[in-house]
Amino acid sequence: VAIRRFSVVGVIIFYFCQVYSQSAKITNPYDGQYFRSPVDYDFQLSGNFCELRETHFHAGIDIKPSSIFGRVPLYSIGKGYVSRIKISAGGYGKAIFIEHPEVGYTSVYAHLDGFNDRIEFIINQHQKSLESYEIDILLNPDILPIEKGAFIGNMGNTGHSFGKHLHFEIRDTKTEKPINPFHFGIKSEDHIAPSLITLAIHGLDPDFYKIWEKRISLIHQKEKEITITTPIEVPAWRTGIALNMFDKSDNSHNKQGIYGFHLYVDDSLVYSYHLDKISYDQSRYITGFYDYKVRKKENTTYSLCYKYPGNNLDFLNTGDNGLIPVYIAKERKVRMEIEDFNKNRRTIHFSLIRAEQMTEQTAKDSTLSVIKVGDSLAVNDNYLSIYFEPNSLFRNIRLNIQKEENAKNEIKYHIHDKYEPIKKPIKIGLTPKFPKPNKLDKAIIVRTNGNGGSKVNYGGRWSKEQLTTDMIEFGTFFIDYDTIAPTIKSISFTPNVGKKSEVRFQIKDNLPTRGKMVDNIRIKVWIDGNFVISPYTSKTQILQIPMKDLSNGGHDLKIEVIDHSGNVANFTAGFVVKK
Ligand SMILES: [Zn+2]
Repeated sequence: VAIRRFSVVGVIIFYFCQVYSQSAKITNPYDGQYFRSPVDYDFQLSGNFCELRETHFHAGIDIKPSSIFGRVPLYSIGKGYVSRIKISAGGYGKAIFIEHPEVGYTSVYAHLDGFNDRIEFIINQHQKSLESYEIDILLNPDILPIEKGAFIGNMGNTGHSFGKHLHFEIRDTKTEKPINPFHFGIKSEDHIAPSLITLAIHGLDPDFYKIWEKRISLIHQKEKEITITTPIEVPAWRTGIALNMFDKSDNSHNKQGIYGFHLYVDDSLVYSYHLDKISYDQSRYITGFYDYKVRKKENTTYSLCYKYPGNNLDFLNTGDNGLIPVYIAKERKVRMEIEDFNKNRRTIHFSLIRAEQMTEQTAKDSTLSVIKVGDSLAVNDNYLSIYFEPNSLFRNIRLNIQKEENAKNEIKYHIHDKYEPIKKPIKIGLTPKFPKPNKLDKAIIVRTNGNGGSKVNYGGRWSKEQLTTDMIEFGTFFIDYDTIAPTIKSISFTPNVGKKSEVRFQIKDNLPTRGKMVDNIRIKVWIDGNFVISPYTSKTQILQIPMKDLSNGGHDLKIEVIDHSGNVANFTAGFVVKK
């Protein structure tokens, strides 16, 4: 009896192990099999994970179409359900999120042209009930369950996209952190090592400001190992390196980002990273990851190979911030390795030595107050208040604010230096010297690049007597009044619509907008008093009104457009459909 009982337990344990090992095998999303490709051809990329965009690290990969003509169907990479649908005039355009609960990841597909019938049906329902083309809805698991490989929609060019492609992401569902899709086997062929354009050597002061720079072109160096034989003389105590570089993958002309970087000084690793994950909160720290001033002035991107004190990007591995102290009598031996995901690698060797003659540092204005990266500071003038939260900055600044008042008592504030990057949005409040009570709802905060620069609408909300917004760039800020309504101009509308399947209008507002404290224009379209879902695209400023479901005969069209300041534009017209 005892033996039999033992064997039953043994069988159960054996069976349990089998099930356990099988399920462990099935649910390994990194095995290259769990997820499939979102397309059914060997794709090429026009963008890779974490490549450096102006305001963020690219959160996914950009997959090129198999052909620019015709439909390019897209498929769910795994089993799960549609958990979110977001339709917007800019940004991701038509986008869906598919949650894969078995493994805890969510796949994201953006810039689609359209969706499968079931998804389109759900979208239409929400657009109608919300009376808005733009929607952002969360769905329960039972509404749109989906199998691995199921058709979800077609590749498109909607939202902030400039050419047909799929923007594809895989996120950790819980943390929402995007992860490099290459880790799941969703990648293209790559046998091409990264391209190195220019090496920059920065002489730095103790606050990480550049006091000297030397650039060395690497563009003609095609070898895997580059050696610069003459020691580079640096007329400063400490050095930082920056690199202008990109990667290419097979059969794609697009410049993409590199994957891994290692900087060794005298054979010890001082700065390195692998671009495996990026959190959305940290994505905007990119302005302290590349040379911001050079990017703004020359439109060229140099990755810094050293870390500003405030730049706590999770993926950075640094000892001593990647700074290299230089000495007169001792050469520092530097080695940099730059690689892509497939381990195609370039290496640069050179050495640094301190010059006899040092660069004179320009004296800093000691009347200005210093803001250290970890400190908070409130700045209050009669008509201005700024609050720097701790860690709003990448490096210490000496805050420079200039006030300028014109004959009409309008005050402009030139706030610090437009070439200094900001890490986190900084609250700024402006108070009008002579408030215009009848125009308060039209008041906005405007930013320009100094005097005469073009205006950008930062919106703002009133809080007591003050209009407040988030400053994400330094520059010139002042209160302005937007009393100009958007414009609605016909492109293809005539009173005789005939057989047209849609009519188009151009919708424009007078000022470009920036930041989260400004509302974009809201557009509504009615035909015969019924709300009509009409796609609008910010980049083209084109509104498309569908006509295909209308019956023959006369109809009434009404378009309403409202901007951030509540300025309203209306267009009404009668028209005739004859199919
Ligand atoms: Zn993209």
